[in-house]
Amino acid sequence: MEERGSPDGDPARNLEQGPEGPETPIQVVLRVRPMSAAELRRGEQSVLHCSGTRTLQVSPPGGGPDVAFRFGAVLDGASTQDDVFRACGVRRLGELALRGFSCTVFTFGQTGSGKTYTLTGPPPQGEGVPVPPSLAGIMQRTFTWLLDRVQHLDVPVTLHASYLEIYNEQIRDLLSLGAPRPLPVRWNKTRGFYVEQLRVVEFGSLGALMELLQMGLSRRRSSAHTLNQASSRSHALLTLYISHQTMPPVDPGELPAGGKLCFVDLAGSEKVVATGSRGELMLEANSINRSLLALGHCISLLLDPQRKQSHIPFRDSKLTKLLADSLGGHGVTLMVACVSPSAQCLPETLSTLRYASRAQRVTTRPQAPRSPKAKPPQHLETELLQLQEENLHLRSQLGQMDPKASGLSGARVAWAQRNLYGMLQEFMLENERLRKEKKQLQSSRDLAHGEQRILAQQVRELERRLLSACYLQQPGPGPAPPCPCVMVSPLLCHAPPPLCPHCQLCPLCRASLAHWACPRRELHLPQVFGSKAPGDGPLSARPPPWAPPCCPSSAKCSRERSHSEWTQTQVLAEMLTEEKVMPSAPPLPAGPLNASPVLRGGAAVPNLARRLEALRDQIGTSLRRGRSQPPPR
Ligand code: ADP
Ligand code: MG
Repeated sequence: MEERGSPDGDPARNLEQGPEGPETPIQVVLRVRPMSAAELRRGEQSVLHCSGTRTLQVSPPGGGPDVAFRFGAVLDGASTQDDVFRACGVRRLGELALRGFSCTVFTFGQTGSGKTYTLTGPPPQGEGVPVPPSLAGIMQRTFTWLLDRVQHLDVPVTLHASYLEIYNEQIRDLLSLGAPRPLPVRWNKTRGFYVEQLRVVEFGSLGALMELLQMGLSRRRSSAHTLNQASSRSHALLTLYISHQTMPPVDPGELPAGGKLCFVDLAGSEKVVATGSRGELMLEANSINRSLLALGHCISLLLDPQRKQSHIPFRDSKLTKLLADSLGGHGVTLMVACVSPSAQCLPETLSTLRYASRAQRVTTRPQAPRSPKAKPPQHLETELLQLQEENLHLRSQLGQMDPKASGLSGARVAWAQRNLYGMLQEFMLENERLRKEKKQLQSSRDLAHGEQRILAQQVRELERRLLSACYLQQPGPGPAPPCPCVMVSPLLCHAPPPLCPHCQLCPLCRASLAHWACPRRELHLPQVFGSKAPGDGPLSARPPPWAPPCCPSSAKCSRERSHSEWTQTQVLAEMLTEEKVMPSAPPLPAGPLNASPVLRGGAAVPNLARRLEALRDQIGTSLRRGRSQPPPR
């Protein structure tokens, strides 16, 4: 006698305790359907015998050795629907889904073995005729339990449902508003495989959910063949999405975040010879068998500890794509293997039993998505405060902000105010945006600094020119001051700044003044002013060097004027002597100097522009005066 079972020998324990370790095996429960009326009429005897609650004994007709299989639970033909519901531990899965895990229940077995019956009860006896409560399947029972459970939760929960079928390798939305059309399966890193444009319906009552189930069941493809009068011709997946209201609201087209509870009613494998399928039925059967083969292949590879690390061909069929997470990913999975007791079905029954035995050795690594309960509230509050502080700091750095750019719409603010977790996310997003904006402004400011430096150089240049122009135009009763060019060789001395804007030549010595930056320029100054240079007197009586030359006919010579009389040029004086250009940060406009600055900020650039303008005026005045006087000797 051979006995196969779960690795730890007690899968029910795992089922009860939930995902404790990093790896959790797929739980398998076996259900043997009762003999059908036709089988009884033929006088068939069951070849399957339950031994205890977890072991199934197979007695092949003809006297071969018995084979035993061990599962999490084994239920014989006498078991009621309620027995199955309890033995499967679906409530435990529901609890895990409420905690944010992704849970899957799927039925597996030969066609006519009772998969659909186990999940949803017998086929409806007519349009709108409900399944009697005693015959309701795992799905209806779970729905009743879940709706009752969420009513007693402290945290409000939002429930959504989707229902699809995979028919001939095409995905059809069983809840679509119009006629179902094929939908694509996509993959991305965060969501894994998912069906695009699948309708996800929010529901709030058991009645509404039951209606969705009936709608899907009535639209699902089924046909009659020799082994089953209502044989499902497609794999059907009904998914419940459980999200706590502290999670962000669902955007249209997005699947809700949170826990999931998915019910998969697989179409049964079938031998077309046994079912007598022809034409379209045969096509459907081939498609069903192909996808089940792909599923079996993935399970085999997942069992191999070495190959599990490598590539698993989940992409081989739509079914394996959609079950990828349940089989090899982060889900918690329960398989209900269904078998027929008939000797005629023994080869398929043995195949199902071997398949199920292997499946219960497949492990997943259950992982709850980020759930609001994952972080203690104290930690959340601290994080929130930090973000708020950073937010304020960034705001103050950025100065006045466009209120529309704050990124928080009224509705979202209201939502965020209700939820600590939501606020945390809002602040994280906003801070990220503010950081970016700050960076942009900093680079604009750096640009502005560069341009300010250039302007400051220009100002200094003009200042030097103005100084020299003042010296050259120095009037007085005595002889005209000697040109600095006569003091030193024109080759060594680049002499005074250019006064003639056309020829760029010194008006005295005609030397080129293109490079006027004389290293010895300051030595000329005392000679230019003679012994009565303006620097000799007290500051209050001393006219500044940029003062306009005194007219000989004027009653008051510049030397006699008090310093206060220069107040009109005081601003200019300060501007000229000011060495440092304050980086008040407005980026320079591309247009003319007097154009308004692009960004808010200080007035350093306009100041520089004014300085330039004032200097130009001064030079112009000096030139005009210079021309109206007799040329110096
Ligand atoms: P499958 O989905 O595996 O192809 P079904 O669930 O459609 O098989 O069952 C085939 C037939 O057997 C149906 O008429 C169903 O009512 C009946 N049946 C299956 N399991 C049971 C059961 N446990 N008790 C009574 N009838 C059952
Ligand atoms: Mg079925």
